[in-house]
Amino acid sequence: MRSLGEFELTRVVEMEGPTHRPDFMFPDATSDVFEEHAGWLEPRYFDRASGRLILCMQAFVIRTERHTIVVDTCIGNDKPRPARPEWHLRNAPFLDDLARTGVRPEDVDFILCTHLHADHVGWNTRLVDGRWAPTFPNAKYIFARREYAFWEARHREDAESANHGAFADSVLPVMEAKQAVLVDSDHQIEDGVWFEPAPGHTEGNVVINVRSGGESAVFTGDVMHHPVQLVRPDWSSRFCEDKALVRTTRAAR
Ligand SMILES: [Zn+2]
Repeated sequence: MRSLGEFELTRVVEMEGPTHRPDFMFPDATSDVFEEHAGWLEPRYFDRASGRLILCMQAFVIRTERHTIVVDTCIGNDKPRPARPEWHLRNAPFLDDLARTGVRPEDVDFILCTHLHADHVGWNTRLVDGRWAPTFPNAKYIFARREYAFWEARHREDAESANHGAFADSVLPVMEAKQAVLVDSDHQIEDGVWFEPAPGHTEGNVVINVRSGGESAVFTGDVMHHPVQLVRPDWSSRFCEDKALVRTTRAAR
């Protein structure tokens, strides 16, 4: 936990480790950058032995004076993701890890999703008696309207393959439970917590700004996949929908 003005920020890690080779993740990647920046990239962010980037699937908890907020809900348990074996039918202690930060599902007031990719919405729901139910019973789930519309259209075209089926099992059940709220991409949740449009990784992608007591932070979601993009903001990932647009979004920050 760290404080940011009057806010408390906590990271809850679902999965972390070497995953992709740099030139798979970032088609423009070159090895000289990893040599030049080895001093800070290794061993925390780049695993030399396997030659793979260390990536982290994580959620963040923001506690303001008024609310408990969770940003991005990772992969989730029991989700059928046959195209991504490491995401498929997981059984991980994410909710126990969340509880260790002092947050029970019923304590959460808002779920914020930077975007609706399968690895950012997974814990939106959990399997209860064979049905997908909202994990956080008292929360409003705040989605950017533009992002929701984009994935809803893809879902209509092909419900199973669009986004690994995540719209169907991790977004729609929240909407059907009337816990979803669709907002503009510059929506303010409360004083000091607000969305900002950051398109490119996905069409309606947002970043989430927090500011309190003269300090500020931004939750970038997949606008930044990996810290190497701090020195090479021109590298967009293979998972970005519009690689040129997200490059512009990063440069603008
Ligand atoms: Zn993503």
